[in-house]
Amino acid sequence: MAYVYDDQNIFAKILRAEIPNTTVYETEHTLAFRDIAPKAPDHVLVIPKGPYVTFDHFCQAASDEELTDFFRASGEVCKMIGAAADDTALGFRAITNAGQHGVQEVPHFHLHILSGRPLGRMVEATD
Ligand code: 5GP
Repeated sequence: MAYVYDDQNIFAKILRAEIPNTTVYETEHTLAFRDIAPKAPDHVLVIPKGPYVTFDHFCQAASDEELTDFFRASGEVCKMIGAAADDTALGFRAITNAGQHGVQEVPHFHLHILSGRPLGRMVEATD
């Protein structure tokens, strides 16, 4: 199966600094920034800097270094926004949409981290 990466997608432009973003955290392989249309008081997008289309693409094709960097960075973001689900915090939701059924808008893999309010059930039906 082929994953075709479109380097004109909006997050590719953010990574090339062609459009601005509100960076929360950055490492060699990962960038975390605030969603432009937040669905919760804290809504951060964590993206790899490499050209990966979806979560499954990233899991299959990224190097061990990129994978480790991405997940460590995601953990740091949870701590930074006060969302880490330890006994001092109220928790969060981490989701990633992929493809047509997942209703993915931007074709560069990203993890949404949402926190700061009760988030309801995991999936709501839409027509
Ligand atoms: P998806 O539907 O692909 O899982 O989520 C894409 C997310 O990207 C949406 O939550 C949307 O608000 C966010 N987004 C779209 N364009 C921009 C942008 O230019 N800057 C930022 N920071 N977020 C964006």
